[in-house]
Amino acid sequence: MLSEPGSPAITGMIPLCVPEISGNEWTYLKDCLDTNWVSSAGSYVNRFEQQISDYIGIPHAIATVNGTAALHIALLIAGVQPDDEVLVPTLTFIAPVNAIRYTGAWPVFMDADPEYWQMDPEKVLRFLDEECRLSNGELVNKTSGRRVKAILPVHILGHPCDLAPILAAAKKYGLVVVEDASESLCASDQGNLVGSMGDVSCFSFNGNKLITTGGGGMVVTLNPKWAERARYLTTQAKDDPIEYFHGEIGFNYRLTNIQAAMGVAQTERLEEFISKKHSIAAAYTEAFVSMAGVTPMPVRPGAYPIHWLYTVLLEAGTTVEKRREFIQYLGSNGIQARPLWHPIHQLPPYIESQAYRIEQASDLYARAVSLPSSVGLSAKEQQLTIQTVSKALEII
Ligand SMILES: *Cc1c(COP(=O)(O)O)cnc(C)c1O
Repeated sequence: MLSEPGSPAITGMIPLCVPEISGNEWTYLKDCLDTNWVSSAGSYVNRFEQQISDYIGIPHAIATVNGTAALHIALLIAGVQPDDEVLVPTLTFIAPVNAIRYTGAWPVFMDADPEYWQMDPEKVLRFLDEECRLSNGELVNKTSGRRVKAILPVHILGHPCDLAPILAAAKKYGLVVVEDASESLCASDQGNLVGSMGDVSCFSFNGNKLITTGGGGMVVTLNPKWAERARYLTTQAKDDPIEYFHGEIGFNYRLTNIQAAMGVAQTERLEEFISKKHSIAAAYTEAFVSMAGVTPMPVRPGAYPIHWLYTVLLEAGTTVEKRREFIQYLGSNGIQARPLWHPIHQLPPYIESQAYRIEQASDLYARAVSLPSSVGLSAKEQQLTIQTVSKALEII
């Protein structure tokens, strides 16, 4: 049995991606327990929010119980209403898509670009230009008749999405941009950090992410009114702290001080973690560039990725079955590897949703394999992974 990403390693296995907990985590957690500040108020929550806000260079950061809750709140404060539509990539972890449905809005699935695997900006533009019309200042999807309200690009695998054309299109049509930067904290594009370019951005601190709080998330925005509303909605929409007066239906989505304490300790080591990820990626790329049957993870010119999960492509024409065999071979030889996410437009809850010209995502899904990428991955483990990949390519 394979462990879930972010959970402890199974003995004898090189895990896909496990947390690195060797800094001030114990000290800060003990401080929470010793002082009884264990719940969703406390100095570590404020410190963690400040750290992330400083890092991204955006003034407002609101900590949440997880990244999915952050996305739900981000869509709400951005004004996404029931029966609106939100453009989202089909090749992503499912959280942003579910968050769209939590608001009562509908996803419209966009393809991945074949070169860098992120949401394809050209197809987004083409969809907006050709498949939508402006009506009373609002953009309407000609097929569904629904209002298109937002674009939700996801920076997958630690690599920034090509956001500039998406931001320009959003401006042209009056759409909001909600960035899902969960997998790509500190990645940047042309010098702009992910999470600093959209109207509102979300991060996750799940166990498998670059830094972890066990479970946790963050909403980041420039807009002070939206930030205030995010705080309000995440604390049960409480208008009066004494009288239990609630102005609307809110959520219990705040991060606890205990979790934030861990986040503060982890954030202190962000630079160190990123430099480890870069050195792992460099070793992999150097080996795979000259290995037949496998393509190293691509980096778009101008992009600065953080290599959250180093992912390779098997050769063109590889079937899902072959890729599965490949991953099984690695697994039975002590290397935990994983495929990318099943394209979401083909999953039961979303099979009826509109999917616009999806031509690449299924191919990437069939061919992609994520390899061990933990911050703590030793040089020896990297070499063992490379050797086992090479053997697997010979055999399968
Ligand atoms: C991890 C992740 C999230 C958030 O997940 P949580 O487990 O709820 O923190 C959101 N989007 C993407 C793309 C992710 O990888």
